[in-house]
Amino acid sequence: MAVDYKLTAKDFKTEVHNNWCPGCGDFGILSAIQTALAQLGLPPHRVVLFSGIGCSGKTPHYVRSYGFHTLHGRVLPVATGAKLANLSLTVLAVGGDGDGYGIGAGYFVNAGRRNLDLTYIVFNNGVYGLTKGQGSPTLARGLQTKSMPEPALQDGVNPIALAVGAGYTFIARGFALDVKHLTGLIVAAVQHRGTAFLDVLQTCPTYNDLYTKEWYAGGRDSQPRLYKLEEAGYDPRVHDPSDPQEVVAKKLQAIGKSYEWGDRIPLGVYYQVDLPTYEQEAIARRPRLGEVSLAELEIDGRDTQPLLDMLR
Ligand code: SF4
Repeated sequence: MAVDYKLTAKDFKTEVHNNWCPGCGDFGILSAIQTALAQLGLPPHRVVLFSGIGCSGKTPHYVRSYGFHTLHGRVLPVATGAKLANLSLTVLAVGGDGDGYGIGAGYFVNAGRRNLDLTYIVFNNGVYGLTKGQGSPTLARGLQTKSMPEPALQDGVNPIALAVGAGYTFIARGFALDVKHLTGLIVAAVQHRGTAFLDVLQTCPTYNDLYTKEWYAGGRDSQPRLYKLEEAGYDPRVHDPSDPQEVVAKKLQAIGKSYEWGDRIPLGVYYQVDLPTYEQEAIARRPRLGEVSLAELEIDGRDTQPLLDMLR
């Protein structure tokens, strides 16, 4: 549901004081979200932005839309409930890598299986920034940031491969300091029908002295580490979702790309397939779900009969 006048990123800015650290990659992601929503022409009152706990959890404070700062690791179930209650809303969920791949890992997997039409953006910085920089689930074994007393003892998770295994239908990776490219990915993620997952490599200059702006800028022979899949001729789309061989081949291709790290790190869309969404499947079984929004049902707290009638 787009407006017929031109929105700008300014229309999605709030007056709330921003207390992220100077130079934090979160600023780039915030700017990309605001610009993407404006480009999509979405009226702010039709957008809901949920967050988990962490530095990224403050994002809804800074975006003029409906918003809700939820509990640690619980952003996806709350976003799922909101979407199910009002299918006409554009729902976005944001959180950090600790929030999403650690505390909320079970929800991360099951949101991928469900394929509800929403967008999940993870601010991936390798540390728990809000609690003084402990290593988070994406920090690889043996790495030690300046705030850690000793190197990480556990292996890091691979979010892209995890998302492929979970069944996400749109899987992409962006970089917080490439706002233009990230904006395009967020636009594509919101336009995708189904659960879109976007892992965003985010610099945390306060606690992560390993994955810095300079580190991303230059690897072997000072060559930029980050490259764009679309510029490398990579095709993420499953063209025939009814062909299991093509589906498996594309998934394996995406997983292979997800293990590129170090001197070459791919950005862009890794995998995309058009499949029926959860709500389409639910409406096919119970057509009334498509006629009346759950949020608009007249329920007074004692008489839940209208809800039961709808689900019959
Ligand atoms: Fe950003 Fe790190 Fe500061 Fe959090 S601690 S606001 S992630 S720079």
